[in-house]
Amino acid sequence: MTMALCFNCGDTKFGALCPCPKCSAGPTEDMGLDILFSDHNFSVSTLNEFGNVIKAISSVSDNDELRFYSFMLYLSNNHNELLQVNYEDEQNALCSSILEKANVPLVKIEQSQQAKLKQEHDLPPATDEEMAALRSMMSELKNNQQPTKSWWQFWK
Ligand SMILES: [Zn+2]
Repeated sequence: MTMALCFNCGDTKFGALCPCPKCSAGPTEDMGLDILFSDHNFSVSTLNEFGNVIKAISSVSDNDELRFYSFMLYLSNNHNELLQVNYEDEQNALCSSILEKANVPLVKIEQSQQAKLKQEHDLPPATDEEMAALRSMMSELKNNQQPTKSWWQFWK
């Protein structure tokens, strides 16, 4: 079963696309986002830390939409490798002031076991240069094991 973050209340829930049992909010409109914030990608402790960010934002604003936009801005500011937002100045200022008021904690991202495994699996294939280097290394090893001269030939 997948552990996922509820973007509304910040709790972790079972199933990225299921409604939250605590606040009954459904998934976001972006399935990619829901999957990103699940243990397909992040460790459960990282999901909890992101949840704390959402909870901090909730403590200063009760506007669902604004809270969500503020969380997206938080991600864009602190983890722009995950996503980037491009807000109008006014929206940006509004969300920035919420983040400031909420005094949002920083999150140290830790990948889930599942993501690590997947990454190992997805390693790109060796390049031609790497293969050539490997082959020459192998043939050197072979030559070392089978010396062309036997030791007594040296004394002839
Ligand atoms: Zn919830």
